[in-house]
Amino acid sequence: MNLSKPCYENFLLTKKYMIDVEKIPFVSNFSLDLSLEKKHVIIEKLLEAHELAFANIHAGNITKRGFAVNACSNIDLWGIGTNFNNTRNEISSICAERSAILSLYNKSLLNFMRKNDGSRFEFKVKYLCMAQAIDLNEPHISAVPCEDCLSWFNTNRYFSDDTIIFSFEKNNESGLIVKAVNLIELLPYRNLKTSNIFDKNKPVKFSNGCIEALQKYNLTRDKIVDILYKTYKNYKDIKLKNVSNQNISCSILADNKIYTEHKTDWTKRWFIDPLEFLLKESLTKNSGSISVDAIAYFGDEYSGDLMEKFDDGVISIKAIGRLRQKYATSDTLIILNLAEHIFIVTIGEFLPKKFIQGYKF
Ligand SMILES: [Zn+2]
Repeated sequence: MNLSKPCYENFLLTKKYMIDVEKIPFVSNFSLDLSLEKKHVIIEKLLEAHELAFANIHAGNITKRGFAVNACSNIDLWGIGTNFNNTRNEISSICAERSAILSLYNKSLLNFMRKNDGSRFEFKVKYLCMAQAIDLNEPHISAVPCEDCLSWFNTNRYFSDDTIIFSFEKNNESGLIVKAVNLIELLPYRNLKTSNIFDKNKPVKFSNGCIEALQKYNLTRDKIVDILYKTYKNYKDIKLKNVSNQNISCSILADNKIYTEHKTDWTKRWFIDPLEFLLKESLTKNSGSISVDAIAYFGDEYSGDLMEKFDDGVISIKAIGRLRQKYATSDTLIILNLAEHIFIVTIGEFLPKKFIQGYKF
């Protein structure tokens, strides 16, 4: 028996698909240090998800789309899930990533409960092995989480910058590879903290990608500060009682007009997102056709009493994802009020992966 090699008897799917793990490149833009045994585990989990994704289609999932994810926790527990669709719309559907995370969360909680050793429940998602119902021999790009899932990942409680998403990819030139991206690549600004203290004289700082966009939209510093000031005024003047204790205002600059709206709470959990509301309002006023040059967000990062923390911040990844589908370009600017300065960044930089790999329905 060769002691230098781990025992691979349990990797049944890797055998079934005749995958030689040592020959599969793991491609990433960050330093990824995985043992051969860990690579075996990742590939086996990807294959398991791959089969579940197909099973979901064969079982008659109404979207006729199959995705599945095997999620791994900080203590190496695994949970699997597939896309679950009661209807085609978002209210009664959940993606494979979130389905797997829920499965893993419940498993982890049961494990914690049974252990009952007085320790704290520490749950973090370490890996997401994401697969699609596409034959491995067909050329395909790696699966990318949608913005609804990215909204979950943009929080800090269960996810970190280092949470890794693995998926298979195959192009015409090379064979099968495993692509690895971490959350900080998909959400480079996930740790940005906004502030609700405003001062017109704060310095304005621009990301590297802004310069062309500023010229394209003819946006001066004064105009940017004016959009943010209108958003701040709306935030200050709110008459509604926000039961969530989180007040958020948003403005968009579309066709040279500034539209401003605040978040409207129905309950602590249910609300109307101001960006989505503004898009609807401006679309109605412009006969269904608009182009958004800039968005400004202003609001409370935390609740007023600080008892309940909102680590999701004021910026809705979900709403930006919807805006991006038709009414923005990668150059559309996001204007944010930070503690020390006003920060301007493009949507393309804010949600980079989605502009590289579109998500077509
Ligand atoms: Zn999703």
